[in-house]
Amino acid sequence: PRQTQIGLMSHEELVSEHETQNANYATLKTEKLTLDLTRGKPSPEQLDLSAELLSLPGDGDYRDGTGTDCRNYGGLHGLPELRAIFGELLGIPVDNLLAGNNASLELMHDVLAFAMLYGTNDSERRWAAEDKLKFLCPSPGYDRHFSITEVLGFEMIPVPMHHDGPDTRAIAALIANDPQIKGLWAVPNYSNPSGVTFSEDVVRELVSMPAAAPDFRLIWDNAYAVHPLTDTAAPVIDVLGLAAAAGNPNRPLVFASTSKITFAGSGVSFLGGSTANLDWYLGHASKKSIGPDKINQLRHLRFFKNADGVRAHMQKHRAILEPKFALVLRILEDRLGASKVASWTEPKGGYFISLDVLEGTAGRVIALAKDAGIALTAAGSAFPYRNDPEDKNIRIAPSFPKLPELEKAMDGLATCVLLAATEKLLDK
Ligand code: PMP
Repeated sequence: PRQTQIGLMSHEELVSEHETQNANYATLKTEKLTLDLTRGKPSPEQLDLSAELLSLPGDGDYRDGTGTDCRNYGGLHGLPELRAIFGELLGIPVDNLLAGNNASLELMHDVLAFAMLYGTNDSERRWAAEDKLKFLCPSPGYDRHFSITEVLGFEMIPVPMHHDGPDTRAIAALIANDPQIKGLWAVPNYSNPSGVTFSEDVVRELVSMPAAAPDFRLIWDNAYAVHPLTDTAAPVIDVLGLAAAAGNPNRPLVFASTSKITFAGSGVSFLGGSTANLDWYLGHASKKSIGPDKINQLRHLRFFKNADGVRAHMQKHRAILEPKFALVLRILEDRLGASKVASWTEPKGGYFISLDVLEGTAGRVIALAKDAGIALTAAGSAFPYRNDPEDKNIRIAPSFPKLPELEKAMDGLATCVLLAATEKLLDK
């Protein structure tokens, strides 16, 4: 019988498989597709779920429950009632949570930029005055995280990701004796792109392991805290409480936003931390801004009403996203399952599927796909310096395209994966 596992094929079988995929690819190119799987953007249907925001808070409604006139300056902490809703969802007391403007990435950038310029509340000097700075980057990870630490001049050190979070043994060994390591990027729930949720044990270890740098920080980006794709949502672990109990209350800085809940460009961001960390942040942020967009916060408060309002809203997102994830997984299995040249994650939440193709072919797959009109995130994007050492990882973002387009794109991608694999094995 003919072998289906590409790695075990005889030379003739491989040649014939290569010819088949070459022909499939030629057909694919004639379709002149323009499909985009690059970014984890909500689809228009998802944005429509929050259409009501466009007419909120509505004529004459501009005071929150404390009587604050949201039209005016001030209120750097953000609206207390909205902070209470997201505090409940993120497991953070309202006093330890700030609500900000439209992007949590901006808050992460500010926190690191403030640390560079002024040092943190636990630093001996501003970070920019250190001889050398390093940052730990669990990989594959979020490319925009790595861009921030790259542009600020940190040496980025990749750390392996496991099914329950980043490799804590490797991290502990690195940070115990090296005060130049100032922090770690972390996406604790439904990570971008691996879909991994950190276990409580991993979180405990991260907040309690000894660090040579007194100002070592966990940039705890809980972008997908309330984004399950299954009936049981992954719990949101109380990282601040665990860190305080471990004697490292200032180690985590928690970030979140409504970018993947309401409008990706016009949501509300959140920053959670110890009182000392928030005082430090606000001390610098108050030089930058007199206060956030409280009208947008009020609009979100009116829209959600309470934490259950957010949970119910997320179920509507799930109803749109789940079939897209299921479709991607089905095509991967149908087209690539038997060939055994690829493996992929089956996320229980979040926005991404992480696809590993035959080692040394990811760049080629992405280039082939591009020539066929299928845009994927650039090769290596999920690694520091865009350097995927094994050249095998591809991030798939299924949220934006409609189902028929997604099907075409995934089918085309599968052809590129098989073509690149046969090329590689035939040394073409
Ligand atoms: N963090 C992660 C892990 C993300 O995937 C994204 C969006 N792709 C963001 C942050 C961006 O968040 P925001 O829109 O709040 O800046």
